[in-house]
Amino acid sequence: MDPELAALGEFGLIDLIRQRAQQRSPGTILGIGDDAALLAIPAGGGLLVTTDMLLEGIHFQWRWGRPRDLGRKAMAVNVSDIAAMGGRPLYVLLGLAIPLAGPSLTELEALLAGLEEEAATYGVTLVGGDTCSSRSGLVLAVTLLGVPPPGDAVLRSGAKPGDGLWVTGMLGGAAAGLLALELGLRPGAPWPADIARPAWLATEEEAAIQAAMAVHLTPAPRLAAGQALVGCATAMIDVSDGVASDAGHLCTESRVAARILASRIPIHAGAAAMARLTARDPLDLALRGGEDYELLFTTPADPRPTLAEIAPGLAVTRIGEVIAGQPVPRLARADGREEILAGGFDHLRVSG
Ligand code: ADP
Ligand code: MG
Repeated sequence: MDPELAALGEFGLIDLIRQRAQQRSPGTILGIGDDAALLAIPAGGGLLVTTDMLLEGIHFQWRWGRPRDLGRKAMAVNVSDIAAMGGRPLYVLLGLAIPLAGPSLTELEALLAGLEEEAATYGVTLVGGDTCSSRSGLVLAVTLLGVPPPGDAVLRSGAKPGDGLWVTGMLGGAAAGLLALELGLRPGAPWPADIARPAWLATEEEAAIQAAMAVHLTPAPRLAAGQALVGCATAMIDVSDGVASDAGHLCTESRVAARILASRIPIHAGAAAMARLTARDPLDLALRGGEDYELLFTTPADPRPTLAEIAPGLAVTRIGEVIAGQPVPRLARADGREEILAGGFDHLRVSG
């Protein structure tokens, strides 16, 4: 165990976290330091509450990236859930289980700095948490509280036949980044000498693979997009387990089917490169790879005002439409074949 961390102990570490936590939400009556935080709830509306864990060995390997990025990601994946409701994040709680033979105090400080950095980006205050030791890996369990948008939160359940189906950004980047990390590539590092580099892989593809690793390690939640889509999106979900799976959730909750056009899927350039490198189908990476943290949403067939007017500069692609039928997404191939789109990541059904 790191001697500096041992000298500090649990309460010393909590004290350090307390000193570093910046107050960003005016409603924090009492933050870290008592048995529970005391928070003002904005009058009238409800409260959005979400929690997401990051586990060493399941979601990340310590050697893959920087502790700072891990802190950022723990926050970002939770912000993504609030974004998918169109809401505004306010308060965050951090559950921290630290392996005794694990990170040094310096690394933990970097992790906390990353979490604070991301909290600053989204105007969130760290108001509490829990700290204990872990017999296996590092665990980060983040709970985020926020407020729904004026009007109402955007749910998974509002899609209607005839609606358009859209996605923000590019897909498959995070899955490709994960493949690259598993292969032994590292962010910011030159191509390793012990990994065969195919002749077709030019500077451009290498840059795309680097960008894909960045998507995996430091996803950027679409908070502004989620908020901008309030009043226009009829249903919304963030893409955490892959479009195949998340479109499935949207269909189930809305009791509709969806037709997704394979030719319309915006495939991340890093996903195309990693698919070629590992003999995979790029479309499969884009549809079934998890952790892109883009938004998948539906709108009336011909939204007025248009999406370009609602969110200028927002990269969105219309990938299909909502139809009536069994509540599953269908994938329409360029040759006219149509199949049920299944798959995506399931923690309790991990195959080979
Ligand atoms: P209790 O024993 O009553 O649960 P703790 O000693 O666990 O209290 O926590 C004391 C205070 O420190 C509480 O306000 C708690 O929310 C906060 N705290 C503990 N661990 C963390 C952490 N990892 N991040 C932020 N706040 C924390
Ligand atoms: Mg107590």
